[in-house]
Amino acid sequence: MISKRNLIFLGAPGAGKGTGASGILEHENLVHISTGDILRAEIKNGTELGKNAAVLMEKGELVPDEIVAGMVKARLKQHDCDNGFILDGFPRTIKQAELLEDALEGIGKKIDTVVYFDVSDDILLKRLTARISCKQCGKIYNKVFVPPKKENTCDDCAVDLFQRPDDSLETAKERLKVFYASTQPLIDYYKEKNLLTSIDQVEKEKMIAVLFEKLG
Ligand code: ADP
Ligand code: ZN
Repeated sequence: MISKRNLIFLGAPGAGKGTGASGILEHENLVHISTGDILRAEIKNGTELGKNAAVLMEKGELVPDEIVAGMVKARLKQHDCDNGFILDGFPRTIKQAELLEDALEGIGKKIDTVVYFDVSDDILLKRLTARISCKQCGKIYNKVFVPPKKENTCDDCAVDLFQRPDDSLETAKERLKVFYASTQPLIDYYKEKNLLTSIDQVEKEKMIAVLFEKLG
């Protein structure tokens, strides 16, 4: 069992945060909190929040800090998070990090480690634009790196795979720009708090092993 259990996964879109999270979750009873997934669920349910978020997400822009922080705060309060959690894709701005700190303080918790997934831009763009996933089970494939056994079909569910609208080349480039402008400052922010650990681009199996080592 890993000892560091209250985690933030930080990294550009496509850096492998989601893949890392599912690798950990196969062995550890942590709650996976992906703000992207929560927002996509809001869109699917046709909520007001979802409608507003969809416009921003399709352009690759960020949803306002207070809104995402509010969603995360509500989720962290639920008691299944007492065993530990992975924040995947949140915080994405310094403001969000500060709101998170307040929220955690309010429930007597703190972050144990921030894992930064360090991957070069050319790999990120290749991955993002080749990313396809299953609507039914959420499994993520990559046309280049992790293709499904049968073209464009989920190995597990046998349904068609789809590309997220924000994974087009144009939007992917915009998302990387937003990452460097808004999210990258968090690397130094967490370094100064002595919470940061980095993981370089490696193949999937190795990445999971390295992650487990770091979370000891
Ligand atoms: P990825 O990690 O591949 O970029 P996500 O699923 O995390 O994808 O996010 C998709 C989109 O959802 C983002 O481009 C952004 O518009 C919105 N989003 C997700 N998390 C946040 C957040 N913490 N703050 C603001 N917007 C967010
Ligand atoms: Zn599936």
